[in-house]
Amino acid sequence: MDKIIVEHFSLTYSDGTESLFDINLRIPANQITALIGPSGGGKSTFLRILNRLNDLADVKKVTGKVLIDNIDVLDPDLDVIELRRKVGIVFSRPLPLPLSIFQNVAYGLELAGEKNKSVLNDAVERALRLAELWDEVNDRLHDPANSLSGGQQQRLCLARTLALEPEIILLDEPTSALDPLATARIENSLTELKKQYTIVVAPHNTQQAARIADFVAFFLQGKLIEFSSADKIFTKPVDQRTQDYISGKFG
Ligand code: ADP
Repeated sequence: MDKIIVEHFSLTYSDGTESLFDINLRIPANQITALIGPSGGGKSTFLRILNRLNDLADVKKVTGKVLIDNIDVLDPDLDVIELRRKVGIVFSRPLPLPLSIFQNVAYGLELAGEKNKSVLNDAVERALRLAELWDEVNDRLHDPANSLSGGQQQRLCLARTLALEPEIILLDEPTSALDPLATARIENSLTELKKQYTIVVAPHNTQQAARIADFVAFFLQGKLIEFSSADKIFTKPVDQRTQDYISGKFG
């Protein structure tokens, strides 16, 4: 099933930068789709449009269609709060709130009005387990979140997103600040999470895409050059530019 359908989508920033041109793709549910390509190609812009983070003043024009479960993401009347519950995002640098581990994960639910202690306890445990952090923190849930290592903080941010029970998880270079071990833990948890969620990730590098992705979209200078199964992209890409990029001819 296609969870996200993008048709003829283009975006221009308010300073005139045309950042995405005529993007067409269909992102399947319960798979990991990786957006790869050199920096400046439009990967972050694409990710951010999926939960309307680009609303923030700096976009001049968007055209085309972006549908999530047939909801028109670009509809000016769309309930953006609702959309962001359905589509969670994790950024490259973990930014825990200056609160306890527990409070960080419970925060979104509390904000949404949940007060029941046992509901909150269950939700926090579930999210921390899904983010593969529970075993490391269950005996110190009330310690400050900033006492955790960088890798643990990133899993905490993932748990914070998961606590809201989104359907789609977007991740923008989620492991760029992490060491190889912490990176492996995040990659493992994403591979588990795809059973329940649709995952769209701009990975830290092409090797990471090769390790975790089911589908790959190659963006170059605002254009989607190729989109297909990871197998195909990494073994028999159709476009010469994809071939050159994955073989490291340019970065
Ligand atoms: P990537 O994630 O592939 O590195 P981005 O989506 O960050 O690419 O950037 C795509 C293009 O849009 C680049 O030319 C970048 O400079 C430009 N860009 C990104 N954010 C903004 C912004 N807020 N205002 C103007 N231009 C931007």
